Amino acid sequence: MPVADVLIIGAGPVGLFMAALLLQDGMDVQILEQRSAPEPHSRAIGIHPPALAALAGTGVAEALVAEGVPIRRGVAVAGGKCLAQMSFAGVSDRFPFVLSLPQGRTEALLERRVNELDAGALHRGVRLTRLSDDGARVTVEAESGGGLLRYTAPLVIAADGVRSTVRALRGVAVRGKEYPDSYLMGDFADNTGFGPVAALFLAGAGIVESFPLPGQRRRWVVRLGAGDLTAGNLTAAGITAGGHGCGGQDGDALWLMRCVRERTGLDIDAGTNSMLSRFGVRTRLARRMLTGHVVMIGDAAHEVSPIGGQGMNLGWLDAAALAPIVSAAVRGHEVEGDLRTFERTRLRAAARATRQAEINMALGRPLPEGLLAARNRAIGCVAAVPAVNALIARRFTMH
Ligand SMILES: Cc1cc2nc3c(=O)[nH]c(=O)nc-3n(C[C@H](O)[C@H](O)[C@H](O)COP(=O)(O)OP(=O)(O)OC[C@H]3O[C@@H](n4cnc5c(N)ncnc54)[C@H](O)[C@@H]3O)c2cc1C
Repeated sequence: MPVADVLIIGAGPVGLFMAALLLQDGMDVQILEQRSAPEPHSRAIGIHPPALAALAGTGVAEALVAEGVPIRRGVAVAGGKCLAQMSFAGVSDRFPFVLSLPQGRTEALLERRVNELDAGALHRGVRLTRLSDDGARVTVEAESGGGLLRYTAPLVIAADGVRSTVRALRGVAVRGKEYPDSYLMGDFADNTGFGPVAALFLAGAGIVESFPLPGQRRRWVVRLGAGDLTAGNLTAAGITAGGHGCGGQDGDALWLMRCVRERTGLDIDAGTNSMLSRFGVRTRLARRMLTGHVVMIGDAAHEVSPIGGQGMNLGWLDAAALAPIVSAAVRGHEVEGDLRTFERTRLRAAARATRQAEINMALGRPLPEGLLAARNRAIGCVAAVPAVNALIARRFTMH
């Protein structure tokens, strides 16, 4: 049975970063990942300055920055006019921007770093099915190609995502909340002239968010209204006919293009669409991150709304906070108190991110004309106060 200092379950962005930190510190780490190949679907794009600073510790930040688009500024637009601007120049000396890079590329660069540190650490196509903790060691059973494998280590770190098997096996309860918000997002060629600037369009029918991507492309995220894309007219692929406010086939690239035109006055080219995905919003916060010799991090411990773009960043900051504690434990130091502090502060950070996302979602909901004008005027006034503007920029970038 293979024995390691630490077993990591899940090679998403959080498991890979955790592994890189521990391998770099000279630990024997094994990572079990159920997928036989990396996930191609792009979810996260926003990487915030505190996460970049943490990633710099493994030498990955430079590669990410080389491929990504640094977003140094955001604008809020209503009725074709710029209501407010926000600069990220003051949020960090080293990384005064939010970096935009599709999650697939981020994971590929993290995986490359893990392989440089130990080419044998990552085991793909291995799915954890059972786990037992005898008080000194944790033994894991996993399926691979129809066979059964066993691994053991004094510590297991579960980074196995929102449907965490480890969390279920350990019986850790979660507090959950469902939200009425749902969104359609798609990536298109960028012909807007916004360049590296992020833009929020505060329309009465619901917010439209637009972010630069590498390769002269842009991501568009549209807040769906009550009549848009009801669950009943979505197939498994996400699209069928229906025909609501924005015209065209519900949920396809043409529909998104028309919706963007109606709400922003801008034309995007539906023919250049490379990704389309609809998502609803819920949050899940585990009651505990520690259970015996098992620690849960990333989405396994906290699922937050994608609106605000903090989920992956939160998970990385969990890993950065946990790494020195694990190192000390492997070297024989007593770490019980440090682990408790870790759990308390990271669950608090997740709750903070959840509240921030709730504010972001509330700002993007549909509003009738009269209220919309008053809300947008208020946003313009508040953002014009330099101290408040700087504070919002810091909150937005996870400071
Ligand atoms: C539409 C959308 C947009 C988003 N945008 C942003 C953004 O801009 N910024 C941001 O910070 N976050 C964003 N997020 C959130 C971000 O995608 C997640 O927080 C992030 O992927 C979590 O990483 P993770 O490694 O914890 O989990 P995951 O990425 O889910 O990885 C978990 C891994 O564990 C593996 N696994 C699961 N079970 C097992 C098992 N039993 N055995 C072995 N392996 C297993 C899985 O195959 C997977 O590879 C977004 C999310 C969505 C849905």
